[in-house]
Amino acid sequence: MKEKTKTLKKRLMRELKPAWDHYTDKERKRVLEFGNGYRDFLSIVKTEREAVEWIVSNARKNGFEKFSKKRGKKFYKLNRDKSIALAIIGRNPISKGVRVIVSHIDAPRLDLKPNPLYEDAELALLRTHYYGGIKKYQWTSIPLSLHGIIIKGDGKKITINIGDNLKDPAFTIADLLPHLSRKEQSQKKLSEAIEGEKLTLLAGSFPFPDDKEKERVKLSVLEILNNRYGIKEEDFISAEIEVVPAIPARDIGWDMSLIGGYGQDDRICAYTSFNAINKIKTPENSTLVIFVDKEEIGSVGATGARSQFLIDCIRGIISWKGKSSSFDMVREVLNSSKALSGDVNAAINPNYQNVLEKTNAAKTGYGVVLTKYTGAGGKYGTNDASAEFVGEIRRLFNKNKVIWQTGELGKVDEGGGGTVSEYISQHGVETVDCGPPLLGMHSPFEVCSKADLYETFKAYKVFLQS
Ligand code: MN
Ligand code: MN
Repeated sequence: MKEKTKTLKKRLMRELKPAWDHYTDKERKRVLEFGNGYRDFLSIVKTEREAVEWIVSNARKNGFEKFSKKRGKKFYKLNRDKSIALAIIGRNPISKGVRVIVSHIDAPRLDLKPNPLYEDAELALLRTHYYGGIKKYQWTSIPLSLHGIIIKGDGKKITINIGDNLKDPAFTIADLLPHLSRKEQSQKKLSEAIEGEKLTLLAGSFPFPDDKEKERVKLSVLEILNNRYGIKEEDFISAEIEVVPAIPARDIGWDMSLIGGYGQDDRICAYTSFNAINKIKTPENSTLVIFVDKEEIGSVGATGARSQFLIDCIRGIISWKGKSSSFDMVREVLNSSKALSGDVNAAINPNYQNVLEKTNAAKTGYGVVLTKYTGAGGKYGTNDASAEFVGEIRRLFNKNKVIWQTGELGKVDEGGGGTVSEYISQHGVETVDCGPPLLGMHSPFEVCSKADLYETFKAYKVFLQS
């Protein structure tokens, strides 16, 4: 009887094992090694512009050329230095569609305001405006760095990257000491305890040596900026300077099975999809891996997923194949294309298990997450992938021994969020969300499992080859 129960159980019940239980010693080593490359990438790539730069330079090393109709089968297409796509032309006719993976390379952060620099209490400070969903208290009292560009009055572009190198100065937001924060902070709600306008960076304290003048500290900072970058105060208006944690990514835990670092939502999917397309020679179907900007503020603008960049890429592939990219042709290709929306999901946090419904929540170390829908409340703001397409991806992953699990963005009434999937599927492309689970998502130091990182890479590779 006992034996019969066991057999029946094995035959009918879904049983999940940690990815680590599936690995041979050799595979385990490969998984850990893959994590090293990712950790280094996270430490140097802190903004969407830096991600694009990294992708271009590494794609070129792997034989991708800038798009043109008369050249190689592997090409990249830039969208204003903030979004990029890599493509490989496949064997099949273009009417069979394209395999697409879209991830986003922007991350929650603070941006400097157009007029950031001021002096108060004889300290120079920089005003910021947060970008995306942050918990403001997490950004105080940590070292911060500045990354971005400034367009000067004469149109010249200057790149800023200061604070990550230990030889550089860093910046920080001074929090209030606990001795004096009882009324000012401690009795308030967490979301109100630190106001957005108080996220100001310390930028200097040295008074300009002329004690008859006002704003001497501000003037001395402006003098340094002018010597260093040749800029003046007005130049901040035409600038994009992002304030990010000046903390390198690190292995986490005695067993080094986890990685902590900033910007893993969603550069973990960017890194894995980049590596996946690089492993592919000549695919059956043409493949397209897109890296978009602005997801954290609603996928808006010319460089976000709601732009026409996907269409431009599809037209590029059609014209490479020597076909005319008429409206009908573009529609035909989109309708037969398939996409993974590469984005992260929430892993069960041992301290806050109550916000997730555990039979449907993702677990750290259980592989890549296939998320049928995200959204909030009654599934608002999501692409709800079709059973047919989820079934197809499930078969593909099982056939290729990808370790996968399902996930949900919290309990039904708890909250929620979205991804780019709805903006891809609206073109007629079958789309499902697929990416690793994270702990501490949207914080300055998010955590992933090396096994989930590796399984995401594997999942993307088999999808692009399908
Ligand atoms: Mn994301
Ligand atoms: Mn996000």
